[in-house]
Amino acid sequence: KLFNMVQDLKGNIRVFCRVRPISNSETNGVIDYIGRDGSLFVVDPSKPLKDARKTFQFNQVFGPTSTQDDVFRETKPLIRSVMDGYNVCIFAYGQTGSGKTYTMSGPPSRSITELGINYLALSDLFLICDKRRDMINYEIYVQMVEIYNEQVRDLLSEKSSCIRLDIRTCSSEEEDGLSLPNATMHYVNSTMDVLKLMEAGEVNRAVGSTSMNNRSSRSHSIFMVHVRGKDTSGGTIRSCLHLVDLAGSERVDKSEVTGDRLKEAQYINRSLSCLGDVISALAQKSSHIPYRNSKLTLLLQDALGGQAKTMMIAHLSPEEDSFGETISTLKFAQRVS
Ligand code: ADP
Ligand code: MG
Repeated sequence: KLFNMVQDLKGNIRVFCRVRPISNSETNGVIDYIGRDGSLFVVDPSKPLKDARKTFQFNQVFGPTSTQDDVFRETKPLIRSVMDGYNVCIFAYGQTGSGKTYTMSGPPSRSITELGINYLALSDLFLICDKRRDMINYEIYVQMVEIYNEQVRDLLSEKSSCIRLDIRTCSSEEEDGLSLPNATMHYVNSTMDVLKLMEAGEVNRAVGSTSMNNRSSRSHSIFMVHVRGKDTSGGTIRSCLHLVDLAGSERVDKSEVTGDRLKEAQYINRSLSCLGDVISALAQKSSHIPYRNSKLTLLLQDALGGQAKTMMIAHLSPEEDSFGETISTLKFAQRVS
């Protein structure tokens, strides 16, 4: 049998942490130590030294000098799983400015060596397609959407930048298995195709924003990669890789924001905590998984749970001013692992 389901000893949920470098304008850092075993020591600047150190444990921690390739190397086994028929979700979590977009897409004006997981994953998928060409015929399609204020928007539609989409769950065998049947689907067979679509999606995402209102940090962006494979004996596989750049997890001060900004913040907080609820329910093998409480978890319902594999990368800003958010990101990460 070509589509061998190898039992994974690591379990289905992996939690990683990435600490971005401290920038020139920032002063003291709070990350005290990063161990090769996945431990991370943080220092609370408000406490006397003897009580200040807190320890957290991850599958692995990527420090400020880690490269895109270092991070991708840990992602590679999951990419292989997608080609074997597993659904995989990779999430970038963290406050605005912690490096989520850097990890998933790369820095704004990037060179080829700085491209993030989205691109590296696709490029790896194409390599595997090529290697297995004599045995399996693969086709790869992508969709790209964002969820803003609990509404799903197609980022790759030429017609309009604000088409709202409905989510379909538990798709039956007869159907195409898509959770967003009305989002445009794009056949890709080269990394060039992927780069063009990523750029188009990023431009479209920026359309909804003004300089005062940086929308990209307040929406979840989801790059959906659909893999269809047919082997020589007629067996088929169908799987999906979801690459998710989540909205910023920072808490806003209710006394400082009102109106639309407050509504946005409430939508984000609610959907991130729903995501935490779903992943921790899955980790505990709970009988009830609360998928229906947010658009994000509803959309990912068929891609989380069951045999699916999930990777969460918690992103940290290392400077002192972010200490509170850093701790809350670390707590979220511990809750889901
Ligand atoms: P987020 O998407 O979480 O809001 P960004 O990815 O936009 O954060 O990162 C904020 C800034 O820090 C950007 O200027 C980005 O290029 C830079 N940055 C983030 N992570 C890294 C990293 N690992 N190495 C170098 N620069 C980084
Ligand atoms: Mg971002």
